[in-house]
Amino acid sequence: MEIENVNIYDLVLEQIEKLITKLQQALNIVKFRKKTISRTASYEKEKIICPHCQSEKVIKYGHTKDGIQNYKCKDCYKKFNALTNTVFTATRLTYDQILTFLKCFKDKISLRKTAKRMGVNKNTVFLLRQKMMNALKEKRENIKLSGEVECDEIYESINLKGTKPKQMPRFSKPRQSNGTTKRGINSHKVCIASAIDENDNMFMEIVGTGPISSDMAIQSLSPKLGKITKFVTDCKSSYEKLAKDRRLNLKQIKAKGYTDSEHNSLANINSVHSEWSKFLSHFRGVSTKHLQGYLDWFCFDKYLNFSLEDNKQINTLLKKSMTVSTTININNVYSNYSGLDFYKIYSDYLYPSTTN
Ligand SMILES: [Zn+2]
Repeated sequence: MEIENVNIYDLVLEQIEKLITKLQQALNIVKFRKKTISRTASYEKEKIICPHCQSEKVIKYGHTKDGIQNYKCKDCYKKFNALTNTVFTATRLTYDQILTFLKCFKDKISLRKTAKRMGVNKNTVFLLRQKMMNALKEKRENIKLSGEVECDEIYESINLKGTKPKQMPRFSKPRQSNGTTKRGINSHKVCIASAIDENDNMFMEIVGTGPISSDMAIQSLSPKLGKITKFVTDCKSSYEKLAKDRRLNLKQIKAKGYTDSEHNSLANINSVHSEWSKFLSHFRGVSTKHLQGYLDWFCFDKYLNFSLEDNKQINTLLKKSMTVSTTININNVYSNYSGLDFYKIYSDYLYPSTTN
């Protein structure tokens, strides 16, 4: 660049403004590249594993045009590098477009508006959003709650939005003459376990359908509990086994809105739940197969707002999107990520009961 030969005092206002814009863009690109390289550097320190088949038999295989080391797997023959399976892999987005996406993601802007602002189509934004949400699940999977923990579950109706008619599990209405189903309405509700600790660490996780059972509570909560001083729940017996197994100091509150004589309550987790409802209202119906992604997004959004000023939030999201792996891609983005088997859930609708 011939910047040394330009006497900046010869420039007119318009040229200076143009130059500043260009410098700003250059700055962004260089900063972005640095982040890419730092991810590559940390990647090289770790044991290199093929992201496609988890094999350790990998060899160096040239560089990308940005100087990133490529590898080839000797087991599956696929090529990869440090950026494979991150949120922006295989996109041809500019740094500005990526920032626009992250800003819209942070502000819960609709797919249509985000697409317009980025100058891409809606499907691209849909895929990016799903990849981003999927990358955030790591926070839930590794979370450790400690100190005083409030725990309660919520239920959401099953939403089969985005399921092709052919794959719809609900073929017919129940056939029983009295119109009742074998199981209660609750078995068609998604059960979401959730907890928050005294430092505002929190998670929300789909654990099944119908009322929470002891097994669901143990499976979801037990791995996420660190050193707990107090474990506050409502009066459901489902939490008692977990408390007994883990020798937790269990405090059970009579009902929503109550505070016991020791001032224990479920106020914090209840306010998380009402914020979750508000968060959901930004979207026009969330498909159950993608619901866990939205739960992880919501929790991450809370974490961003708790801990960081507005201008640092985008940077944190950028770092996440560049360093966390996701397995979502164009081919599997419409798969069911809820862990729920909709055919099983609706089995009493599919196959009329023969026992009564
Ligand atoms: Zn491989």
